[in-house]
Amino acid sequence: MREIRSLKEMRLYSQKVRSYGKKLGLVPTMGALHEGHLSLVAEARRRAEVVVVSIFVNPIQFGPGEDFSRYPRNLRHDKKLLKDFDIDILFLPEAEEMFPGGFKTYVEVEGLSRKLCGKSRPDHFRGVATVVTKLFNIVCPDLALFGEKDFQQQLIIKRMVRDLNLPIEIISLPTVREFDGLAMSSRNAYLNPRERKSAVILYKALCLAQREIGAGEKDLNKLLFRMRSLIGSEPAVRLDYVTAVNPETLEEVKRIKDKMLFVLAAYLGKSRLIDNLLIDTG
Ligand code: AMP
Repeated sequence: MREIRSLKEMRLYSQKVRSYGKKLGLVPTMGALHEGHLSLVAEARRRAEVVVVSIFVNPIQFGPGEDFSRYPRNLRHDKKLLKDFDIDILFLPEAEEMFPGGFKTYVEVEGLSRKLCGKSRPDHFRGVATVVTKLFNIVCPDLALFGEKDFQQQLIIKRMVRDLNLPIEIISLPTVREFDGLAMSSRNAYLNPRERKSAVILYKALCLAQREIGAGEKDLNKLLFRMRSLIGSEPAVRLDYVTAVNPETLEEVKRIKDKMLFVLAAYLGKSRLIDNLLIDTG
């Protein structure tokens, strides 16, 4: 595993790999790696001859007052975890080189970026789409892997790649969960033991939806009310939103459909956690 920090060196390496006709896979991350990230790395290893994992805590996807400065950073631990995966390059760009003074160019996927998490994090997806475009331009991967834990994010990246004709295959992979169902997230590290215990209610609410639809529930409003009540039974949890959407457009659905995505976001202490579950009865 070679470490590259300079953008120029990364680009030269990719050019060389591509000139040999080798397939290059990229896994973009913000570090504080866990098994969710590692599932993407393992799949990249299966699908590509050369694997690049990037770690970059992207300043422009955090809003004012969000957790940029205290976002967990533990490079030594990350490197240890990556050792088992035989990756080729650990790409560690520096913020000063990624966003030099006077940086003013952004990529915005309209519509999708304003829904769900875009309502409480207005510039978040613009920051994500911009940094991912930059990583794609620097690393020039044939394929890139994203997690469905961040469902809205992977959808936005897929739309961006389509709209801008980027020659990159986007692969999305299912959410990896803790033993009790809580979606793995770097931000789970912020939770104190009481919050960690309460956090599982988010997954339980999604399971409630799945169970009740399976049992024949036809009234979406009633179901969403029950999900909200269940989450509300945990005093440590402050719900941002829970809703059901069309998984292709993220438009809210008004009644129960064959295929729908239940999505939610909630605050626990200082952490904002998200989760989702695709329900497909068709
Ligand atoms: P992050 O470091 O949070 O920016 O995440 C980097 C990538 O890992 C993104 O594509 C995430 O969607 C993905 N990811 C994060 N958590 C999980 C999880 N629990 N299961 C699967 N993928 C995940």
